[in-house]
Amino acid sequence: AELHAKYEAGQAATWEAGAPVPFAFLAQTFTAIDATTKRTEITNILTDALRTIIATTPDDLLPTAYLLNNRVAPAHAGVELGIGDAILIKAISSVTGRNEKSIKEEAAKSGDLSSIANAAKGKQGLIGKVTANTIRSVFKTFRDIAKIEGNKSQDHKKALISKLLTASGKGSNEAGYIIRLLQGKLRIGLQEQGLLVGLAQAAFLERESAGRDTSSLAPRLEAAAQTVKQVFSECPSLDELVPALLGGPIKDLPKSVRFKPGVPIKAMLAKPTNGVTEVLDKFQDTQFTVEYKYDGERAQVHVDERGHVTIYSRNSEDMTGKYPDLAQRMPDLLAPDVKSLVVDCEAVAWDPKEGKIRPFQVLSTRKRKDVTVGSIQVQVVLFAFDCLFLNGESLLSKPLTERREALVGSMTAKPGQMEFATFKTSHDVEELGNFLNESVAAGMEGLIVKSLDSTYEPSKRSVNWLKLKKDYLEGVGDTFDVVVIGAWHGRGKRTGVYGSYLLAIYDDENEQFQTISKIGTGFSEELLKTLHGQLNEHVIDAPRTYYRWGESLVPEVWFDAQVVWEVKAADLSISPLHKAAAGLVDPTKGISIRFPRLVKTREDKSPDQATSPEQVAEMYNKQVLLSKTKGKAADDD
Ligand code: ATP
Repeated sequence: AELHAKYEAGQAATWEAGAPVPFAFLAQTFTAIDATTKRTEITNILTDALRTIIATTPDDLLPTAYLLNNRVAPAHAGVELGIGDAILIKAISSVTGRNEKSIKEEAAKSGDLSSIANAAKGKQGLIGKVTANTIRSVFKTFRDIAKIEGNKSQDHKKALISKLLTASGKGSNEAGYIIRLLQGKLRIGLQEQGLLVGLAQAAFLERESAGRDTSSLAPRLEAAAQTVKQVFSECPSLDELVPALLGGPIKDLPKSVRFKPGVPIKAMLAKPTNGVTEVLDKFQDTQFTVEYKYDGERAQVHVDERGHVTIYSRNSEDMTGKYPDLAQRMPDLLAPDVKSLVVDCEAVAWDPKEGKIRPFQVLSTRKRKDVTVGSIQVQVVLFAFDCLFLNGESLLSKPLTERREALVGSMTAKPGQMEFATFKTSHDVEELGNFLNESVAAGMEGLIVKSLDSTYEPSKRSVNWLKLKKDYLEGVGDTFDVVVIGAWHGRGKRTGVYGSYLLAIYDDENEQFQTISKIGTGFSEELLKTLHGQLNEHVIDAPRTYYRWGESLVPEVWFDAQVVWEVKAADLSISPLHKAAAGLVDPTKGISIRFPRLVKTREDKSPDQATSPEQVAEMYNKQVLLSKTKGKAADDD
C-alpha cells in the first residue's frame, strides 16, 4: 500500500512500501525539527519519521540514521565530509548558471550557502529528466565523495555534488540541506543522544508495543532509550546498532551490539579536585588506589583475534598511522594465552639513551600521519593503566581490581616499551602527599585517584576517577624559611644518609624554634648525600631547651639550629603534632605545612631570620578565607 508521510511543511513525500524513500521526506523532517527548539517535540517528530521508514522501507533506516547524524561512517573510521565552500560554490554555479563571483559575494554577506542553493532550486526545481534524490542515493554519493582522493579529486567531487543538486526537488529545502550536510554543519538542534532516543522509541513503538496495553508506555520507552544509549556508548557504530534494532527486541541488544576490538569506546575521564583533603572527603567510604598521571597522549590499544593492532585517540580517531612502532611491538608483549585485548594507556615520549620519560612538548613534535618505523625521531613508551576487553569478553562492567588483574596477567612489561602505571594504595594523607611529591619529581603531571570497585564508564567524567594535579603542591604562593633541627636515618635505598628531616620556624618573642613539618620527599640521591654531609657538622646530643616539638614526632638525631632552608608547601593545616604558631590560631594546637619541598639552602639567612609564627598564622587565615570564597564560587556555578 502506498503510504503518505504526514508533514505540513511542503508537499508530503510519497513512496511505495519497500521502495527507496525520497530524500524529500528527510528534508521535510529536517525542516520540522529545525522549526522547534523543544526537545520533546524534536524527539516526537524524529520518532514519527523513523517509524514511517521502519514500517515502509526498513532498509533505509541505516542511511537515514547516518544522515541525521551528519556522518557517513562511524567516528573512528576517519571518513569525514566537511567539503570546503570553494567546491560547493563551483557546484552551485554549474547547476544554476549563476557566476561564482556573485555567489561568493552573496555568501560572504549572508554567511549561508545553503539558502542560496535553496533559492536557486526554488526557481528551477528538477532540471531535465533526472530521477529525484532518494535517501540511499544521497548517502551513497556522500560516501563516494568522502572517499575521493588524488589530483582530479576536486573536479570529481564537484561533478557528484552538481548531480545531487540537479536531482533535488524544489519546495522542501532539499538542495539547502544537501549543502549543509556536505559542509558537515547540519545544525538542526539534533544531538547524537537525541538521535539514539528517536531510534529506540521508533523501533519499540513500531515493532514491540503494537496492540499491547499502552498505559505504561512511558517507562518502557524510557527503558528502551536507556538500553540503546548504553549499548551505543560501548559500541558507537550505527552499522552495528541499526541492523540489530531491526533484527530483534531492544532488550536483546546488549547481546548483539557489544564492545569489541576494532570499535573504540569513548574514554572515561577524570574530575578535577583541589587537594588531598578533597580526595579523602570524596572517597571516605571507598577503597581507592592512586596512579601516576603520565603526561602524554591517551592511547586505546586494540588487538583483535587476527592479531591486528589498532590504536585510538581520546576522541576515537585511528592513530595507528602515528604510532606504527607501538602497533609493531604489541604482539611481543602479549601473554601466550591472549587472543584479543583492549587496553587503556598513555603514550609518553621516551629517551632511550637516558632510559627516562620526556615531557609532553617532545611528544607533540612527533609527526601525526604516515609515520614509518625507520624514520621515527621521538620514541614512545606505553604506560598501561586499564584492561577493557580480554579474549572475547568485555570487562567494562567489572571492578577496577579485576580489570587490573587482567591487565597485569595479559601483558609482560618491558622498560622503554610498555610498563604498567605506577600505583599505590593508601588512605593516609601524608603518604598520598608524599606519593604526589614523588610523582612530580619523576616528571608526572600529578596523580589520578581511582575507586577500586568502580566499573569503566565510557565517555563519563566520573567521580570514580579524580585528578590531583601538581599545581596543588604550588598551592601556598609564598615560600617558608625554616631551620633544620632534627633528622631520621634513611632505610632501604637511603641507608647511610638521612631519609627525612624535622623543620622549625623561629618565634622571636619567646625565643623558641617551633616545629612546622617533616620533609622526606623530592630529594635526589645525590642531594641526600650532600645534605647528610652538611648537617652532620651540627649534630648535638640532646635537643636544646628552646626547641618545641610534638611528643609523637621525635627525631633520631638532633641538630644545632644552624641551617636554613627555603621550602614550598601545598597548604597549611591545624596540627596536633607541630608547634608552629601554637596559640595564635588554635588555643593549643600548632600549624603545620603539608607536603613541603626543598627549594634551596638559604646561605644568606641566619636561623633567627626564619619565618615567624605571625607570618604562618597570617598565611593560614588567608588560605581559609580563600577556600571560603572558592567554595562560594563553586556553589554559584
Ligand atoms: P580532561 O578533559 O579530563 O580535562 P585533559 O586532556 O585535560 O582531559 P587531564 O585533565 O590532564 O587531561 O587528565 C586526563 C588524562 O590523563 C587522561 O585522558 C589520560 O590521557 C591521562 N592519564 C595519564 N595517566 C593516567 C592514568 N594513570 N589513568 C588515567 N588517565 C591517565
